[in-house]
Amino acid sequence: MPGGSMADARYDPDNIFAKILRGEIPCHRVYEDAHTLAFMDVMPQGEGHTLVIPKAPARGLLDAEPESLSALMTSVQTVARAVKAAFRAEGLTLFQFNEPAGGQTVFHLHVHIIPRREGVPLKR
Ligand code: ADP
Repeated sequence: MPGGSMADARYDPDNIFAKILRGEIPCHRVYEDAHTLAFMDVMPQGEGHTLVIPKAPARGLLDAEPESLSALMTSVQTVARAVKAAFRAEGLTLFQFNEPAGGQTVFHLHVHIIPRREGVPLKR
């Protein structure tokens, strides 16, 4: 495969979310368990924009271990329920980007959760 393909991608332990997991930079933590962490996005695309990440290193969806993915999605559901209630949302938008071509800018697997209301567009 040519250089820069997803198959060549490696986990960078100095990415921002790895630093958050190591406590080297702060975050607004909203949920944590043994395998996952959730915190508020610093540049929210809507009120209540939250990120959920696995603690195990993974650059994106394709290199994550099944156990880590399972724990991640369970926490996504827990956090989605909480933010929906907290922000009195009528709906939820989730997204998950992989590689620069897919819109990813932080290279530690994460799921975005954004509470939504009718008629309120996403920012950015
Ligand atoms: P995009 O930047 O295109 O949304 P990603 O899916 O990689 O691509 O999302 C990275 C997200 O991380 C962005 O929404 C960004 O606002 C957020 N972010 C970057 N740095 C921090 C930080 N220190 N704390 C919380 N969120 C952050």
